Amino acid sequence: MSSQINRREWLKSSALLTAGLTLGTTGLQTVAAKNKAVERLRQLNYTLESKLAIDLPPLRARLFANENPFGPSPKAKKAIIDAIAMSYQYPFLAMRDLQKMIADKEGVSMEQILMGAGSSELLLSAAIIYAAKGGHIVTADPSYMDLIETAAELGASIEKVPLDVTYTHDLGAMEKKITAKTSLVYICNPNNPTGTILPADKLRAFCETVSKKVPIFIDEAYIDYADPAKTASMIECVRKGQNVIIARTFSKLHAFAGLRVGYVIAQPEVIKLLGKYASGGSDMSATSIQGAMASYQDAEYMIYAKTQNTTSKEFLYQTLKAEGYEYVPSHTNFVIFPLKMQATKFRDEMMKRGVGVRSWEFAGKQWCRISIGTLDDMKIFASAFKELS
Ligand code: PLP
Repeated sequence: MSSQINRREWLKSSALLTAGLTLGTTGLQTVAAKNKAVERLRQLNYTLESKLAIDLPPLRARLFANENPFGPSPKAKKAIIDAIAMSYQYPFLAMRDLQKMIADKEGVSMEQILMGAGSSELLLSAAIIYAAKGGHIVTADPSYMDLIETAAELGASIEKVPLDVTYTHDLGAMEKKITAKTSLVYICNPNNPTGTILPADKLRAFCETVSKKVPIFIDEAYIDYADPAKTASMIECVRKGQNVIIARTFSKLHAFAGLRVGYVIAQPEVIKLLGKYASGGSDMSATSIQGAMASYQDAEYMIYAKTQNTTSKEFLYQTLKAEGYEYVPSHTNFVIFPLKMQATKFRDEMMKRGVGVRSWEFAGKQWCRISIGTLDDMKIFASAFKELS
């Protein structure tokens, strides 16, 4: 989706700007890099605005960005409103409180957490770090490409390992692609765009062996949606001292996509490295921080949002089955299914009907990825889909 691509590009420019400022060897070089990055930022901002105005018709169902339409929690909303009065102050202390809350819950130290205004800036920082000096990154294909594409643009070589026949990461094949040059392994669990998960024991064993050779970055943006009996967060590997980096975000189950809160958990020396090109949480607003603290403690609301997601997802499954379509069973708030027409054409036809979805092409098939919306959203999708299927 153009808006997503541009958000990524925009963040990337900011990161490149930071990189230019920090890495320039002379003052002049630094200024040149900064000017170039600022110019690029200007162009991208322009593109973002114009694309949004031109490309996106008014949508009746916005199902392309894997947002959570049921949140944020009422307690989070109240905390945000209450935080406005004090938001003339920089929220350094509150940011530390949120970090401490996460550290205590996850059983890690404060030095093992890096906060961010969303996890994207942390992925970009990782891209800069692990692309450096001829980096080589092993990833699954298809997967979430933000970190990978940025690293590639910064000169890293990328080894894309196809998913297996169940559209899940092929850890054995990925391990075989690791060489002496490999600087990072990127794993998205659950995987975007397939919604598949890796069983906890398999991933645990992979981390145990592979992290001795190379750092493993696990993007757990959607882990809150997954059944804990079927997969698990690998923060436990960080606790065991392994070189594993976990990225988490409040954008999905917590419904904070527009509020921007994310974090990374890793070994202290890795946190220091990643902190070189990220805001370290100083770009988060006072309101977002207070909202995140309230949301983090609101287990009841998380169950509610998950249940709503499941109800809408079941409705979608029934719709697809009734029209004779298959789908990849999903452990997230989105579902991917193979199409019977060209994916971009399907996406455009759905757009014309006011339904925003994403298109994909892999494993020799055309695919639609649809985010889970409210039941009303899914009914709007269903009626538009029936016209095309
Ligand atoms: N990681 C994955 C797998 C995602 O799908 C997304 C957003 O869609 C992100 C990270 C970025 O999330 P944010 O920057 O909102 O925390």
